[in-house]
Amino acid sequence: MDRRRSRIIAVAVCLGLLGAAIPIAAMAYISWVIAVEREQDRLELFSRVTLLRATNTLADAKGALDAIAATSEIPCSEAHIARMRALSVNTRSIEEMGYFEDGLLKCTSWGRTDGEVAKSPVDYVMPDGIEMTIRMQPLVSGGKPMMALHSGSYNVLVAPSRFVDVLIDDGMSVALATGQGAIINTLNAPDAALVRSLVSQPRKGMTDSDLFAAAHGDGLLAVAIEPRSKIGASLRTEQMLLLPVGVFIAAFIVAVVIWLSRKRLSPLAELEIAVRNREFVVHYQPIVELKTGICIGAEALVRWRRPDGSLVRPDLFIPLAEESGLIMPITDQVIEAVILDLNGTLVQDRTLHIAINLCAADIKSGRILDALEDRLANTGIRTQQIWLEATERGFMDIDAARVTLAKARERGHSVAIDDFGTGYSSLQYLQGLPLDALKIDKSFIDTIGRDTATSSVTSHIIDMTKSLGLFSVAEGVETEDQADYLKTHGVDFGQGWLFSKALPAAEFVAYHRRTKEKYGAAPEIIQAAAE
Ligand code: C2E
Ligand code: CA
Ligand code: CA
Repeated sequence: MDRRRSRIIAVAVCLGLLGAAIPIAAMAYISWVIAVEREQDRLELFSRVTLLRATNTLADAKGALDAIAATSEIPCSEAHIARMRALSVNTRSIEEMGYFEDGLLKCTSWGRTDGEVAKSPVDYVMPDGIEMTIRMQPLVSGGKPMMALHSGSYNVLVAPSRFVDVLIDDGMSVALATGQGAIINTLNAPDAALVRSLVSQPRKGMTDSDLFAAAHGDGLLAVAIEPRSKIGASLRTEQMLLLPVGVFIAAFIVAVVIWLSRKRLSPLAELEIAVRNREFVVHYQPIVELKTGICIGAEALVRWRRPDGSLVRPDLFIPLAEESGLIMPITDQVIEAVILDLNGTLVQDRTLHIAINLCAADIKSGRILDALEDRLANTGIRTQQIWLEATERGFMDIDAARVTLAKARERGHSVAIDDFGTGYSSLQYLQGLPLDALKIDKSFIDTIGRDTATSSVTSHIIDMTKSLGLFSVAEGVETEDQADYLKTHGVDFGQGWLFSKALPAAEFVAYHRRTKEKYGAAPEIIQAAAE
């Protein structure tokens, strides 16, 4: 496995893990936020109810203070005391009423006093001026501690329980405090420090251990608190709803990641990247004149050099390239490589040729001719030095093929049929095509010397090239016997491992120079063509 593959797989695994973890974590978090919010809303409702209850109680008490202030009875007269008693009885929230003179309690709704009880110290002055004493011992009645509200010459006593006279949930605690944070009364012992801190804080919130909500109004503060553990039930409800959504999104993302990475790992994607990165190199297999051994050219054979340095044989990617259309940019890269590798050598030796393999699409469209023309311009390479090889697969659209081949020859290229004998080529059909050469397929060369049924076909094919007036190239020549046979039967050129395998450019140039020194200049037919 090369580096690119392992990188794609590593990235895919990371993305897959993230893609799975993030939606699930996000949904878990959202469930938690929603559950917290819901609990806080509930707490806020309780704090408002508590505040409402308290302000109603206060309004009630103030009503009684206003009513008594409006009487014209002589203070502490029978009638005055009776009036105070009537108000205490009829006002639900107040237990007792008192009348003061010079800061001393003169009489209460119970009757006259000895006049020695002083007005209780004021803890808090309400926004409307009423003075509040949060806790005092009613000396006259001697009952439970009360809250005193003092206005003008009167006070009323209110049982603190009246202020938080609300029903609350298990585990919840509530507090009512003055606007300055002095606690008036509580239920279920809330954290006093927390209550005090809420005088100036936002309405809802959370500490390490508790959730809380506060309501402010009429100089009072109502707070509802519950432990964070209370979120649990609410959280589970949300999770039941949202976690499956998270799992679904996670599964979707993982599926997309798998799909994309498989696509990126597909042979086609790899080939696309190879084209983009220009990972193709060309090797050159010498073509020699059988009679003399002189190298008259080479076939350009493409190889895919992977980033790890390995070479991939064309059989393994050309079919996919043809199917996908990537063969066209590959052919362009082959042409560019030929020019880059051999420009100098081709200009120096006009008898040298390079054969380029064309794909079916190029033969059908003729695009290749313009591509060649563009790239050969200003190189000094002659069109005569570029041979084109086309297989019969390229002749599906015979009319289009005829046009392209004719145009190619018009421009000076020689055209050869590749893999000749393996298709359905009939003499009649070949006669109609503008051709220069036939490349006899290796499968026929293989039969030479073997007494098989096809060996007679080989000599028949050789005869056919002659009757068509074409020159012939034998492919896949591996033995001297084959070369001798081909030579005696008049085949012009040979290509095969007997002479050389396909070589990298520099080695081919050296091979060409060596054979030239050894066997001399190119043969006449090639010389003549080069003039
Ligand atoms: P082909 O055009 O018939 O090329 C000849 C193939 O036979 C080459 O294989 C060559 O290396 C191999 N060969 C040559 N002499 C011998 C021999 O003596 N013995 C044996 N066993 N094999 C020999 P290669 O390079 O693997 O190419 C395979 C095919 O890939 C080519 O067949 C051709 O159809 C295609 N191809 C190669 N390069 C290109 C290209 O640039 N464009 C296109 N469209 N197709 C290409
Ligand atoms: Ca070929
Ligand atoms: Ca061939």
